[in-house]
Amino acid sequence: MINFLFHMPTRIIFGPGKLKELGTTPYLPGKKALLVISAGGSMVAHGYMQLVQTLLAQNGAESVVFDRIQANPVLEHVAEGAALARTEGCDFVIGLGGGSSIDAAKAIALMVTNSGSYWDYMPSGTGGRQVPAKPALPIVAIPTTAGTGTEADPWIVITREQTNEKIGWGNDSTYPVLSIVDPKLTLSVPPRVTAMTGMDAFFHAVEAYLSHARQPTSDLLAQQAVSLISSFLPQVVQNGDSIEARTMLSWASTAAGVCESLSSCISHHSMEHALSAYYPEIPHGAGLVMLSVPYFRYLTRYVPDRMIDLAYFMGVDVDSLPANEQPFAFVGALEKLIKDIGLDDLKFSDYGVHRDEMPTLAANAQETMGGLFNLTPTQMNLRVVTEIFEAAYR
Ligand SMILES: [Zn+2]
Repeated sequence: MINFLFHMPTRIIFGPGKLKELGTTPYLPGKKALLVISAGGSMVAHGYMQLVQTLLAQNGAESVVFDRIQANPVLEHVAEGAALARTEGCDFVIGLGGGSSIDAAKAIALMVTNSGSYWDYMPSGTGGRQVPAKPALPIVAIPTTAGTGTEADPWIVITREQTNEKIGWGNDSTYPVLSIVDPKLTLSVPPRVTAMTGMDAFFHAVEAYLSHARQPTSDLLAQQAVSLISSFLPQVVQNGDSIEARTMLSWASTAAGVCESLSSCISHHSMEHALSAYYPEIPHGAGLVMLSVPYFRYLTRYVPDRMIDLAYFMGVDVDSLPANEQPFAFVGALEKLIKDIGLDDLKFSDYGVHRDEMPTLAANAQETMGGLFNLTPTQMNLRVVTEIFEAAYR
Protein backbone atom coordinates (compact mmCIF):
# COMPACT_ATOMS: atom_id res chain seq x y z
CA MET A 1 0.00 0.00 0.00
CA ILE A 2 1.31 3.42 -0.89
CA ASN A 3 0.57 6.36 1.43
CA PHE A 4 2.39 9.65 1.32
CA LEU A 5 2.32 13.43 1.58
CA PHE A 6 4.05 15.27 -1.24
CA HIS A 7 5.05 18.81 -0.27
CA MET A 8 7.95 20.56 -1.95
CA PRO A 9 7.24 24.30 -2.18
CA THR A 10 10.67 25.63 -3.23
CA ARG A 11 11.08 27.21 -6.68
CA ILE A 12 14.45 25.91 -7.91
CA ILE A 13 16.33 27.52 -10.79
CA PHE A 14 19.04 25.04 -11.78
CA GLY A 15 21.90 25.08 -14.27
CA PRO A 16 25.40 26.37 -15.06
CA GLY A 17 25.33 30.16 -15.38
CA LYS A 18 21.84 30.47 -13.89
CA LEU A 19 22.99 32.78 -11.06
CA LYS A 20 22.50 35.67 -13.47
CA GLU A 21 18.75 35.10 -13.28
CA LEU A 22 18.93 36.62 -9.80
CA GLY A 23 19.13 39.91 -11.69
CA THR A 24 15.89 39.36 -13.61
CA THR A 25 13.72 36.84 -11.78
CA PRO A 26 10.22 38.07 -10.94
CA TYR A 27 10.25 35.77 -7.91
CA LEU A 28 12.54 37.80 -5.64
CA PRO A 29 10.53 37.85 -2.41
CA GLY A 30 11.40 41.36 -1.17
CA LYS A 31 13.16 44.68 -1.66
CA LYS A 32 15.93 44.51 0.93
CA ALA A 33 17.94 41.37 1.63
CA LEU A 34 20.13 40.36 4.54
CA LEU A 35 22.91 38.51 2.68
CA VAL A 36 24.35 35.85 4.99
CA ILE A 37 27.86 34.55 4.20
CA SER A 38 30.67 32.79 6.06
CA ALA A 39 33.31 34.56 8.12
CA GLY A 40 36.10 32.91 6.14
CA GLY A 41 36.17 35.47 3.32
CA SER A 42 35.85 32.96 0.46
CA MET A 43 32.63 34.51 -0.92
CA VAL A 44 34.46 37.84 -1.25
CA ALA A 45 37.70 36.29 -2.57
CA HIS A 46 35.82 34.45 -5.35
CA GLY A 47 33.76 37.56 -6.12
CA TYR A 48 30.47 35.76 -5.44
CA MET A 49 29.29 38.24 -2.80
CA GLN A 50 29.88 41.25 -5.05
CA LEU A 51 28.19 39.49 -7.98
CA VAL A 52 25.10 38.65 -5.92
CA GLN A 53 24.86 42.24 -4.67
CA THR A 54 25.15 43.60 -8.23
CA LEU A 55 22.46 41.22 -9.51
CA LEU A 56 20.15 42.15 -6.62
CA ALA A 57 20.63 45.84 -7.41
CA GLN A 58 19.79 45.13 -11.06
CA ASN A 59 16.58 43.53 -9.85
CA GLY A 60 15.75 46.55 -7.68
CA ALA A 61 16.72 45.08 -4.31
CA GLU A 62 19.10 46.47 -1.70
CA SER A 63 21.32 44.19 0.37
CA VAL A 64 23.11 44.24 3.71
CA VAL A 65 25.91 41.73 4.32
CA PHE A 66 26.19 39.65 7.52
CA ASP A 67 29.52 37.80 7.38
CA ARG A 68 29.94 36.14 10.77
CA ILE A 69 28.96 32.53 10.02
CA GLN A 70 31.32 29.71 10.97
CA ALA A 71 31.24 26.03 10.01
CA ASN A 72 28.68 24.41 12.34
CA PRO A 73 26.84 27.73 12.91
CA VAL A 74 26.05 28.75 16.49
CA LEU A 75 23.14 30.42 18.29
CA GLU A 76 24.97 33.64 19.03
CA HIS A 77 25.38 34.44 15.32
CA VAL A 78 21.71 33.69 14.63
CA ALA A 79 20.73 36.33 17.19
CA GLU A 80 23.26 38.83 15.81
CA GLY A 81 22.09 38.34 12.24
CA ALA A 82 18.42 38.68 13.21
CA ALA A 83 19.15 41.90 15.13
CA LEU A 84 20.96 43.34 12.10
CA ALA A 85 18.10 42.39 9.75
CA ARG A 86 15.61 44.10 12.08
CA THR A 87 17.69 47.27 12.44
CA GLU A 88 18.18 47.47 8.67
CA GLY A 89 14.54 46.71 7.85
CA CYS A 90 15.35 43.68 5.68
CA ASP A 91 12.28 41.90 4.28
CA PHE A 92 14.00 38.71 3.08
CA VAL A 93 17.16 36.72 3.83
CA ILE A 94 19.64 35.17 1.39
CA GLY A 95 22.05 32.38 2.33
CA LEU A 96 25.05 32.33 -0.01
CA GLY A 97 27.68 29.62 0.46
CA GLY A 98 27.80 26.13 1.94
CA GLY A 99 25.25 24.55 4.24
CA SER A 100 26.38 26.56 7.25
CA SER A 101 25.60 29.93 5.67
CA ILE A 102 22.27 28.81 4.21
CA ASP A 103 21.16 27.10 7.45
CA ALA A 104 22.15 30.21 9.42
CA ALA A 105 20.17 32.37 6.96
CA LYS A 106 17.10 30.20 7.57
CA ALA A 107 17.46 30.46 11.36
CA ILE A 108 17.99 34.24 11.13
CA ALA A 109 14.89 34.56 8.92
CA LEU A 110 12.87 32.82 11.64
CA MET A 111 14.26 34.98 14.43
CA VAL A 112 13.61 38.28 12.66
CA THR A 113 9.89 37.61 13.03
CA ASN A 114 9.80 35.68 16.32
CA SER A 115 10.80 36.73 19.85
CA GLY A 116 13.14 35.06 22.33
CA SER A 117 16.03 32.79 21.43
CA TYR A 118 16.17 30.36 18.49
CA TRP A 119 16.70 27.59 21.05
CA ASP A 120 13.24 28.29 22.56
CA TYR A 121 11.84 26.62 19.42
CA MET A 122 13.98 23.47 19.43
CA PRO A 123 11.81 20.42 20.03
CA SER A 124 14.40 18.17 21.71
CA GLY A 125 17.38 18.16 24.09
CA THR A 126 17.47 21.38 26.14
CA GLY A 127 15.26 23.17 23.56
CA GLY A 128 12.25 25.16 24.81
CA ARG A 129 9.76 23.17 22.67
CA GLN A 130 7.79 26.32 21.75
CA VAL A 131 6.05 26.69 18.41
CA PRO A 132 7.05 29.84 16.49
CA ALA A 133 4.14 32.31 16.43
CA LYS A 134 5.05 33.69 13.02
CA PRO A 135 6.50 32.33 9.79
CA ALA A 136 10.13 33.13 8.93
CA LEU A 137 10.96 35.96 6.53
CA PRO A 138 11.17 34.60 2.96
CA ILE A 139 14.44 32.74 2.35
CA VAL A 140 16.53 32.57 -0.83
CA ALA A 141 19.30 29.93 -1.04
CA ILE A 142 22.33 30.13 -3.33
CA PRO A 143 24.59 27.12 -2.65
CA THR A 144 28.26 27.18 -3.63
CA THR A 145 28.93 23.56 -2.64
CA ALA A 146 27.29 20.32 -3.76
CA GLY A 147 26.34 18.53 -0.57
CA THR A 148 23.89 19.72 2.02
CA GLY A 149 20.75 19.89 -0.11
CA THR A 150 19.52 22.65 2.20
CA GLU A 151 18.43 24.56 -0.91
CA ALA A 152 15.68 21.97 -1.36
CA ASP A 153 14.57 21.28 2.20
CA PRO A 154 13.31 23.15 5.28
CA TRP A 155 16.04 21.88 7.61
CA ILE A 156 18.25 24.12 9.73
CA VAL A 157 21.15 22.76 11.77
CA ILE A 158 22.39 25.01 14.55
CA THR A 159 24.73 24.19 17.46
CA ARG A 160 24.31 25.26 21.08
CA GLU A 161 27.91 25.23 22.24
CA GLN A 162 27.36 25.35 26.02
CA THR A 163 25.56 21.98 26.01
CA ASN A 164 27.19 20.32 22.98
CA GLU A 165 23.90 20.05 21.13
CA LYS A 166 23.57 20.18 17.35
CA ILE A 167 19.92 19.90 16.41
CA GLY A 168 18.21 19.79 13.02
CA TRP A 169 14.80 21.48 12.84
CA GLY A 170 12.54 23.27 10.36
CA ASN A 171 8.93 24.12 9.52
CA ASP A 172 7.00 24.98 6.37
CA SER A 173 8.20 28.59 6.46
CA THR A 174 11.88 27.57 6.44
CA TYR A 175 11.78 26.04 2.97
CA PRO A 176 13.55 28.54 0.70
CA VAL A 177 10.97 30.27 -1.51
CA LEU A 178 13.65 30.46 -4.21
CA SER A 179 16.90 28.54 -4.70
CA ILE A 180 19.36 29.24 -7.47
CA VAL A 181 21.66 26.27 -7.97
CA ASP A 182 24.47 27.28 -10.32
CA PRO A 183 27.07 24.48 -10.56
CA LYS A 184 29.65 26.99 -11.83
CA LEU A 185 29.87 28.31 -8.26
CA THR A 186 31.17 24.88 -7.14
CA LEU A 187 34.19 24.99 -9.51
CA SER A 188 36.20 26.75 -6.78
CA VAL A 189 35.63 24.02 -4.15
CA PRO A 190 38.89 22.15 -3.35
CA PRO A 191 39.05 18.34 -3.79
CA ARG A 192 38.81 17.31 -0.14
CA VAL A 193 35.82 19.57 0.56
CA THR A 194 34.23 18.32 -2.68
CA ALA A 195 34.69 14.75 -1.42
CA MET A 196 33.22 15.44 2.03
CA THR A 197 30.24 17.49 0.85
CA GLY A 198 29.56 14.96 -1.92
CA MET A 199 29.38 12.18 0.65
CA ASP A 200 26.92 14.22 2.73
CA ALA A 201 24.61 14.32 -0.31
CA PHE A 202 25.23 10.60 -0.90
CA PHE A 203 24.11 9.74 2.64
CA HIS A 204 21.02 11.99 2.42
CA ALA A 205 19.93 9.90 -0.55
CA VAL A 206 20.89 6.53 0.98
CA GLU A 207 19.18 7.33 4.28
CA ALA A 208 16.04 8.65 2.55
CA TYR A 209 15.91 5.37 0.60
CA LEU A 210 16.04 3.35 3.83
CA SER A 211 13.82 5.59 5.98
CA HIS A 212 10.32 4.64 7.10
CA ALA A 213 9.29 8.04 5.65
CA ARG A 214 10.25 7.11 2.06
CA GLN A 215 7.80 7.58 -0.79
CA PRO A 216 7.83 6.95 -4.57
CA THR A 217 9.41 10.27 -5.57
CA SER A 218 12.09 10.17 -2.87
CA ASP A 219 12.96 6.62 -3.97
CA LEU A 220 13.44 7.74 -7.58
CA LEU A 221 15.51 10.78 -6.65
CA ALA A 222 17.59 8.77 -4.16
CA GLN A 223 18.36 6.24 -6.89
CA GLN A 224 19.45 9.07 -9.19
CA ALA A 225 21.59 10.79 -6.56
CA VAL A 226 23.33 7.57 -5.40
CA SER A 227 24.08 6.61 -8.98
CA LEU A 228 25.39 10.06 -10.03
CA ILE A 229 27.55 10.51 -6.93
CA SER A 230 29.05 7.02 -7.29
CA SER A 231 30.02 7.82 -10.90
CA PHE A 232 31.00 11.46 -10.74
CA LEU A 233 32.39 12.13 -7.27
CA PRO A 234 35.66 10.18 -7.80
CA GLN A 235 36.03 11.94 -11.16
CA VAL A 236 35.51 15.44 -9.74
CA VAL A 237 37.83 14.80 -6.78
CA GLN A 238 40.53 13.87 -9.34
CA ASN A 239 39.78 16.80 -11.65
CA GLY A 240 37.45 19.53 -10.45
CA ASP A 241 37.42 21.55 -13.68
CA SER A 242 34.71 19.70 -15.59
CA ILE A 243 31.51 21.74 -15.45
CA GLU A 244 29.56 18.74 -16.83
CA ALA A 245 30.66 16.53 -13.92
CA ARG A 246 30.21 19.36 -11.39
CA THR A 247 26.68 19.87 -12.72
CA MET A 248 25.87 16.19 -12.12
CA LEU A 249 27.03 16.52 -8.50
CA SER A 250 25.04 19.71 -7.95
CA TRP A 251 21.93 18.00 -9.28
CA ALA A 252 22.61 14.95 -7.10
CA SER A 253 22.89 17.22 -4.06
CA THR A 254 19.65 19.05 -4.86
CA ALA A 255 17.89 15.76 -5.64
CA ALA A 256 19.08 14.38 -2.29
CA GLY A 257 17.82 17.59 -0.65
CA VAL A 258 14.37 16.95 -2.11
CA CYS A 259 14.68 13.43 -0.66
CA GLU A 260 15.20 15.01 2.77
CA SER A 261 11.97 16.95 2.27
CA LEU A 262 9.84 14.09 0.95
CA SER A 263 11.44 11.34 3.04
CA SER A 264 13.99 11.85 5.83
CA CYS A 265 17.48 11.14 7.02
CA ILE A 266 17.84 8.42 9.64
CA SER A 267 19.91 7.91 12.81
CA HIS A 268 23.26 7.96 10.95
CA HIS A 269 22.72 11.73 10.90
CA SER A 270 21.79 11.80 14.62
CA MET A 271 25.07 10.09 15.44
CA GLU A 272 27.09 12.49 13.29
CA HIS A 273 25.46 15.51 14.90
CA ALA A 274 26.58 14.23 18.31
CA LEU A 275 30.14 13.89 17.03
CA SER A 276 30.38 17.36 15.51
CA ALA A 277 28.50 18.95 18.44
CA TYR A 278 31.40 17.88 20.67
CA TYR A 279 34.04 18.37 17.98
CA PRO A 280 32.85 21.24 15.74
CA GLU A 281 36.08 21.08 13.74
CA ILE A 282 34.91 17.75 12.27
CA PRO A 283 33.24 18.55 8.94
CA HIS A 284 29.74 17.03 8.78
CA GLY A 285 30.59 14.94 5.71
CA ALA A 286 33.75 13.61 7.38
CA GLY A 287 31.81 12.58 10.49
CA LEU A 288 29.27 10.72 8.35
CA VAL A 289 32.01 8.91 6.43
CA MET A 290 33.76 7.80 9.63
CA LEU A 291 30.55 6.32 11.05
CA SER A 292 29.12 4.93 7.84
CA VAL A 293 30.66 1.48 7.33
CA PRO A 294 29.76 -0.04 10.73
CA TYR A 295 26.42 1.82 10.73
CA PHE A 296 25.20 0.49 7.37
CA ARG A 297 26.70 -2.94 8.02
CA TYR A 298 24.54 -3.10 11.16
CA LEU A 299 21.39 -2.08 9.24
CA THR A 300 21.95 -4.52 6.38
CA ARG A 301 20.24 -7.49 8.00
CA TYR A 302 17.07 -5.47 8.66
CA VAL A 303 16.61 -4.12 5.11
CA PRO A 304 18.48 -6.60 2.86
CA ASP A 305 16.39 -5.89 -0.26
CA ARG A 306 16.87 -2.14 -0.04
CA MET A 307 20.62 -2.66 0.48
CA ILE A 308 20.75 -4.78 -2.68
CA ASP A 309 18.97 -1.95 -4.56
CA LEU A 310 21.54 0.56 -3.29
CA ALA A 311 24.40 -1.65 -4.50
CA TYR A 312 22.74 -1.79 -7.94
CA PHE A 313 22.44 2.00 -7.97
CA MET A 314 26.16 2.20 -7.25
CA GLY A 315 26.84 0.06 -10.31
CA VAL A 316 27.67 -3.23 -8.56
CA ASP A 317 26.94 -6.38 -10.57
CA VAL A 318 24.95 -7.82 -7.70
CA ASP A 319 23.55 -10.78 -9.67
CA SER A 320 27.02 -12.26 -10.04
CA LEU A 321 27.35 -12.59 -6.26
CA PRO A 322 26.17 -15.52 -4.11
CA ALA A 323 22.73 -14.72 -2.62
CA ASN A 324 24.03 -14.50 0.95
CA GLU A 325 26.60 -11.89 -0.05
CA GLN A 326 24.27 -9.67 -2.08
CA PRO A 327 22.87 -7.57 0.81
CA PHE A 328 26.43 -6.70 1.92
CA ALA A 329 27.51 -5.53 -1.53
CA PHE A 330 26.43 -1.99 -0.68
CA VAL A 331 28.82 -1.76 2.28
CA GLY A 332 31.64 -3.10 0.08
CA ALA A 333 30.90 -0.53 -2.62
CA LEU A 334 30.71 2.22 0.01
CA GLU A 335 34.17 1.28 1.34
CA LYS A 336 35.53 1.40 -2.20
CA LEU A 337 33.94 4.80 -2.91
CA ILE A 338 35.42 6.24 0.30
CA LYS A 339 38.85 4.96 -0.75
CA ASP A 340 38.49 6.23 -4.33
CA ILE A 341 37.83 9.77 -3.10
CA GLY A 342 40.72 9.65 -0.64
CA LEU A 343 38.70 9.78 2.58
CA ASP A 344 39.77 6.36 3.88
CA ASP A 345 42.38 8.11 6.04
CA LEU A 346 39.76 9.84 8.25
CA LYS A 347 40.04 8.89 11.94
CA PHE A 348 38.22 10.03 15.08
CA SER A 349 41.56 10.12 16.92
CA ASP A 350 42.99 12.66 14.44
CA TYR A 351 40.33 15.09 15.66
CA GLY A 352 41.18 14.41 19.32
CA VAL A 353 38.17 12.18 20.00
CA HIS A 354 38.83 9.63 22.81
CA ARG A 355 37.56 6.08 22.75
CA ASP A 356 36.00 6.40 26.22
CA GLU A 357 33.65 9.13 24.92
CA MET A 358 31.62 6.74 22.77
CA PRO A 359 28.82 6.18 25.37
CA THR A 360 28.47 9.98 25.83
CA LEU A 361 28.18 10.52 22.09
CA ALA A 362 25.62 7.71 21.76
CA ALA A 363 23.47 9.22 24.54
CA ASN A 364 23.74 12.70 22.98
CA ALA A 365 22.62 11.34 19.57
CA GLN A 366 19.48 9.86 21.12
CA GLU A 367 18.67 12.88 23.30
CA THR A 368 19.14 15.62 20.70
CA MET A 369 18.17 13.90 17.45
CA GLY A 370 15.95 11.08 18.72
CA GLY A 371 13.28 11.70 16.06
CA LEU A 372 15.42 10.21 13.31
CA PHE A 373 15.78 6.96 15.29
CA ASN A 374 12.00 6.52 14.90
CA LEU A 375 12.41 6.61 11.10
CA THR A 376 15.33 4.12 11.06
CA PRO A 377 14.49 0.63 9.73
CA THR A 378 15.10 -1.00 13.11
CA GLN A 379 15.02 0.08 16.74
CA MET A 380 18.47 0.92 18.05
CA ASN A 381 18.99 1.09 21.80
CA LEU A 382 21.79 2.93 23.55
CA ARG A 383 23.98 -0.18 23.66
CA VAL A 384 23.72 -0.72 19.90
CA VAL A 385 24.44 2.94 19.14
CA THR A 386 27.46 2.85 21.47
CA GLU A 387 28.72 -0.32 19.77
CA ILE A 388 28.50 1.32 16.35
CA PHE A 389 30.46 4.34 17.61
CA GLU A 390 33.05 1.95 19.06
CA ALA A 391 33.28 -0.04 15.84
CA ALA A 392 33.84 3.23 13.93
CA TYR A 393 36.60 4.38 16.30
CA ARG A 394 40.11 4.47 14.90
ZN1 LIG B 1 23.80 15.89 6.10
